[in-house]
Amino acid sequence: MTRILHRSIGPTLPHAASAQGVYITDTNGRQYLDASGGAAVTSVGHAHPEVLAAMRAQIDNLCYAHTSFFTTDAAEALAEKLVDLAPEGLNYVYLVSGGSEAVEAALKMARQYFVEIGAPQRRHIIARRQSYHGNTIGALATGGNAMRRKQFQPILPETHHVSPCYAYRDKGADESPEAYAARLADELEAKILELGPEEVMAFVAEPVVGATLGAVASVADYFKRVRKICDKYGVLLILDEVMCGMGRTGTVFACEQDDVIPDIITIAKGLGGGYQPIGAVMLSEKIYDSFANGSGLFQHGHTYIGHPVAAATANKVVEIIARPETMANVNAMGAKLQSGLEAVLGASPHVGDIRGRGLFRGIEIVADRDTKTPFDPSRKIHAKIKRQAMARGLISYPMGGTIDGVHGDHILLAPPYIIAPHDVDLIIERLADAINAAIAE
Ligand code: PMP
Repeated sequence: MTRILHRSIGPTLPHAASAQGVYITDTNGRQYLDASGGAAVTSVGHAHPEVLAAMRAQIDNLCYAHTSFFTTDAAEALAEKLVDLAPEGLNYVYLVSGGSEAVEAALKMARQYFVEIGAPQRRHIIARRQSYHGNTIGALATGGNAMRRKQFQPILPETHHVSPCYAYRDKGADESPEAYAARLADELEAKILELGPEEVMAFVAEPVVGATLGAVASVADYFKRVRKICDKYGVLLILDEVMCGMGRTGTVFACEQDDVIPDIITIAKGLGGGYQPIGAVMLSEKIYDSFANGSGLFQHGHTYIGHPVAAATANKVVEIIARPETMANVNAMGAKLQSGLEAVLGASPHVGDIRGRGLFRGIEIVADRDTKTPFDPSRKIHAKIKRQAMARGLISYPMGGTIDGVHGDHILLAPPYIIAPHDVDLIIERLADAINAAIAE
């Protein structure tokens, strides 16, 4: 009997009792290898002693002070650290409690920026079809995930979508990556022109798509071309790094690898590492200045913004993430995970693509690898893999859905950055078994 409205009503979930490193233990003493960091949240591992100590120290001093009355050392120190680590020009930080809140705040910042600079006609948001930006109304409208949007469609604000950069399915066999990137940039430009360049506010994209496709990075050149198009028409570029940021892909910010600097960036998940609910929006000097020199405030706010315990915790998490040895492990273990998955699953007729960056890896499951034909959605292959993996003590993040008429079964792997080689081997072994068992069902 549960009194909680769980996301899926019906199945009985194990009760998590404790966690250490890359393992969660339930109340029956069963251990689960956390190969997806929950939903790509657990960045520095469970029960990291340095993070626990930072939390305790903050709790002993100050748990809460409303940001209308006070700032705190904890929030200021975190902001300072994030600005130090961020791509150049992202000099200000707005602290929230999670990813959807970060995206909502980012959209409102973009809108207010144009109001402040005397361009109130700019209101259109363009995003990409295969994307997820959160579950609140504005963030849900921005994402293109049809399944998540479906029943809420009538109450979503109008947004516009273009193709994602999804080379496995959409790049022509004879098309070079450069030509593909150019085609997608042309599509974005055409959409801006169709809507009226003076009326478009922002283009929103995940540098590496997470919760809709499973670790799909863009081809080289794509984001550089996107940046140029945005600049040409005065459109703000918002990069959503809620899932792929904070070291997940092997650099602190994912966009570093795409050589692009956005006007606004959103982060969450790995920022708090699961220890505290926290997200952040980083914004450029020009947006901050428009508020400072204009109305003198950002017309937004939530009760728990800048929460000191969350900030102090995230400050330690980010310190650990940014250590060279942490990023070295993400890159080494990410490469090991990729090559191990390729060795064990690469020849499977049901594995279409193995992809990703750092410790952010995705596997696309198909009925026929040569034709890339997906499984019939009614088989719910991704859900079966999740169940089979759990039965083998493996937490993975499978996802499925029909987008642009094509069904997809994807599995996302996003283990903690401190994972050791033997646990990477265990992920591969258990996942391969789970995939085979799910397909055999
Ligand atoms: N943006 C992206 C890219 C995400 O992956 C998610 C969560 N999966 C969100 C936003 C929403 O974050 P939250 O669940 O913390 O609200």
